[in-house]
Amino acid sequence: MVYDVLIIGSGGAGLSAALSAKKEGASVLVVSEGFPTRSQTCMAQGGINAALANEQEDSVDLHIEDTLRSSKGLASSIMIEKMCKKAPDTLAWLNAIGVPFSRTDEGKIAQRRLGGTASKRACYSQDYTGLKILHTLYDQCLKEEIAFLNEHYLLELSKEGASFLDIKTTETIMIEAKSIVMATGGYAGIYHGFTTNTSQSTGDGIMIAHHAGADISNMEFV
Ligand SMILES: Cc1cc2nc3c(=O)[nH]c(=O)nc-3n(C[C@H](O)[C@H](O)[C@H](O)COP(=O)(O)OP(=O)(O)OC[C@H]3O[C@@H](n4cnc5c(N)ncnc54)[C@H](O)[C@@H]3O)c2cc1C
Repeated sequence: MVYDVLIIGSGGAGLSAALSAKKEGASVLVVSEGFPTRSQTCMAQGGINAALANEQEDSVDLHIEDTLRSSKGLASSIMIEKMCKKAPDTLAWLNAIGVPFSRTDEGKIAQRRLGGTASKRACYSQDYTGLKILHTLYDQCLKEEIAFLNEHYLLELSKEGASFLDIKTTETIMIEAKSIVMATGGYAGIYHGFTTNTSQSTGDGIMIAHHAGADISNMEFV
């Protein structure tokens, strides 16, 4: 079978991409070296910023301003604007699909202040924000009957698709696809002993994409 969309990585990015592609009618396969319930995303605790103004006055402009300031002027203002403008809709979507966000006394999504912000802007689910988001996304993927292939390690990308090592059998397999979404996360796991990042976060996906000719940018922000 040739998949319309092959998604490599089953963290928050990979599962969100899978749901979007499926909604557009594509045939989708998500492959990862681990399990969809156990990527780095499930370790995130603090929350996600969105200018909802549920706890105190806030605006998208203030969110943009705070984020640009925190990047010391190095980040792309176009990308920051896009992210901050989309954040309230993204939160509304996560809420609608069932992420159990902590609530204010009035039943709105609760928000707290995290580093680099002037307002209480981070939406959270106790101290399990990433875990709750990931498991809710996975539930939705199961509901949409999205196909998963776990414990397969990406080896190489080609114009036809991608080849993987089956971690259990050590056999290699080739999966054909019309398009590929790389969602293999960052690389901070390489600082073993000095990082909270997972051992799966080794940057090999970035390296393999680079070898296949992809442009890599802004690595210092991972
Ligand atoms: C302790 C901690 C706290 C955090 N707190 C916050 C927070 O409060 N707010 C916030 O916004 N962010 C936080 N983060 C950061 C956040 O967790 C990450 O930015 C986010 O989860 C990245 O999601 P992702 O889907 O891009 O990657 P990941 O969740 O890392 O998923 C990567 C996926 O790719 C797969 N993969 C990798 N390499 C290969 C390969 N070669 N072959 C096959 N599959 C591969 C992995 O198995 C995994 O499924 C925190 C991170 C940590 C570690």
